[in-house]
This record gives sequence, structure tokens and C-alpha cells, in this order.
Amino acid sequence: MVDWFITLINIRPDALSIWQDPVVKERLAHYYSVMKNEKPAKFLVARLMPVDVDPYSSDLSLEELWSIHDKARGEFTSMYKDICSEGLNKLSTLEKPKYSYLDVKIALAYKLMNPCRICERRCGALRLEGKPGICAIDREIIVHSYFHHMGEESPLVPSGTIFYGGCNFKCVFCQNYDISQVNPRGGEKLSPQELAMIQAYLRRKGARNINHVGGDPTPHTPFILESFKYLDINVPQLWNSNMYMTEEVMKLLEDLIDIWLPDLKYGNNKCAWRLSKVKDYWEISTRNIKRAHDVGDIIIRHLVLPNHVECCTRPVLEWIARNTPRALVNIMDQYRPEHIVARHPQLYPDIARRPKREEIELAYKMADELGIIYKPIS
Ligand code: SF4
Repeated sequence: MVDWFITLINIRPDALSIWQDPVVKERLAHYYSVMKNEKPAKFLVARLMPVDVDPYSSDLSLEELWSIHDKARGEFTSMYKDICSEGLNKLSTLEKPKYSYLDVKIALAYKLMNPCRICERRCGALRLEGKPGICAIDREIIVHSYFHHMGEESPLVPSGTIFYGGCNFKCVFCQNYDISQVNPRGGEKLSPQELAMIQAYLRRKGARNINHVGGDPTPHTPFILESFKYLDINVPQLWNSNMYMTEEVMKLLEDLIDIWLPDLKYGNNKCAWRLSKVKDYWEISTRNIKRAHDVGDIIIRHLVLPNHVECCTRPVLEWIARNTPRALVNIMDQYRPEHIVARHPQLYPDIARRPKREEIELAYKMADELGIIYKPIS
């Protein structure tokens, strides 16, 4: 007899006609099926896939854990397909194994956190000893707010959005600077079980997805993965991120995240260093976005910065057209000077104003010429 069951919440009929668009429906087919309870979220299957060792044992080295992970990873796709072909109710007939593929991912994520190389800053903070890294996060889950976000892309709303504290970027124009940089540790400190309860609450109240954002969710990766152990509800998991995680963390996330919402901000490393203080931005973010595109559904965001259409928007859109042809794209026009740029506009005169209409129109024209799909979801 199994002693657990999955809750399925009926999502109300679509208020928006977005799903009438065949391109949107085709490109977000996996996400749509999970949202409608026609398929399980990936994390639900990952935690039902048994592994035959205790991944939390201190006897296991990192290399041994990766080898267990990669073996289970090879079996995940066929298990996912089998469960889908038998219908979602099949899930609740399966016993939860003592240790699962998800447990292996959690164990690996906590190991990668101490010294920390969760993101490509690789700052080496001893977070399990209570020492925060550059992102300001240590061993505590910090949530500043959670609610149904109605301002996200139309296939996503209402989006059950969780705002985590801290960020591995230091964007001088950050619009969430209070929770990412100024007071990152000021939110509620939660347990993984409480984080799961928030996700269940958001879904029960009609969220189409759980939208992990910040700041950036990446520093919270181990805790978010652990929360999936306690989440007995079918809901698509959405990763809303600057995509500066390490390759190892991408590997942990890829069989758990149902839809990716990455930001591709800059078209070169010089602008990324000057405005966000990150190195090798282009190589790292495009590497991770390409991987996300190849393993799942994806909407790529690009915020048009004033005076950065040629150096950033053009190479970003050209890269998207060449490398992620299945992606839907949101070309965002809402930039406004905030944070350091608002206080010291003389330091950043190029971005000390809103983008002009001509700049936004030029970005749209570039996208049209490259065959990028962006209009239906903006
Ligand atoms: S997640 Fe935070 S602590 Fe870890 S490497 Fe990145 S900045 Fe450093």
C-alpha cells in the first residue's frame, strides 16, 4: 500500500487566447501538458526513480555520487515516458523508494555548496558553516515574497512566483536591488518543508507554474531541490534566471525543470563586466541557455538597454536565431534606470534613461529579419 498521493489541481479555462496560437502550443508542449495535468512534472518522476545506495552517506566521494547520478539519468527518460503512457494516476500507485534520483541530486547540490561552486563565480564560500558567498546566501533559505504574478509572459500567468534573497550578479540597474543587493538577507528564513508548502499553496490557488526567481534562484538550488521531496502536487517548475550556474548545477536541474525562463542580457563580456561585475558572461550564459533549450521548453528574455542595441541586442538576437531555434523570445522594453544608475547617473550615462521608441523598434526589426518568434507572448 502506498502512503502518499499526488494532488491534481484543475486549472481554470484559459482566460487568454494564447494557447490558440499553434506555434506557442507546439514550442511549450511539455509545459502545457504538465500545467493541464496531462503529464507529471519532472521532479515527481525523479523522486520515484530508485537508486540502490544511500546518497547521503559520507563514505561516497563526489566522483562516486556523479557516477550514480549519471547512471540514473540514463534511465530517467524511459521511466518518464512509461509513466506518461500509463497516465498520471499511475504515479500514486508507485511506492516512494528509500533513496531516489532526486536524493542523489540533493546530495550532490549540498556537496557543491561547500566550498561553493554552485555558480560560475566559484567563490568557494563555506556556506554550510554559515559563511555567505558573493551572493549573500549561506545555508538558509531566504524568501522575500511569493504571490501570483500577473505581469509575466502570457503563457505563464498567473505564475506562482517565489522571490528568493541574494544574487550572484551585481547589476548596477537592478530593479529588485532591495532583495538582491541592499537587504538580501532581510526576508523570511524557511525550511525546505515550508518552501514546499508555499509551492503547494500557490498551485492550489491557481498558479500555472512555480516560478523560482530573485535576485536569482541559483544560489538557492540545493534548498529548492530539497523542497521537491515534500511537494505532493503536480505543478510545472520554472527556472527564472541569469543562467550563470556551473555545468554541474545545470546537470542537476535538467531532469527537474519543466520550463526555463533565462535572461540573455549582454552581447559581450565587456558590457557584462561593467554593468553586472561578472566574468566570461557570454560563454557561460550561452552555454547554459543552449543546454536548457536542448532539454526543455524555453522562453528567452532580453531587456533592451538604451545605447546597447548594437553591442548587446544585435548579437543576442543573432545568437538566439542560430542556436536556439525552438525558443520563444520576449524582447522587453520596460528598462528604466534604478539602483546605482538612478543615484549616480553620471557614472553610467549610456543607460541613465529609458530606451527610445526607435531603439525598441530596431530590436523588433532585427528579430523579424532573423525569424525570431516574440510577438505572441510579450
Ligand atoms: S552561488 Fe553564491 S556562494 Fe556559491 S559560488 Fe555563486 S556567488 Fe559564490
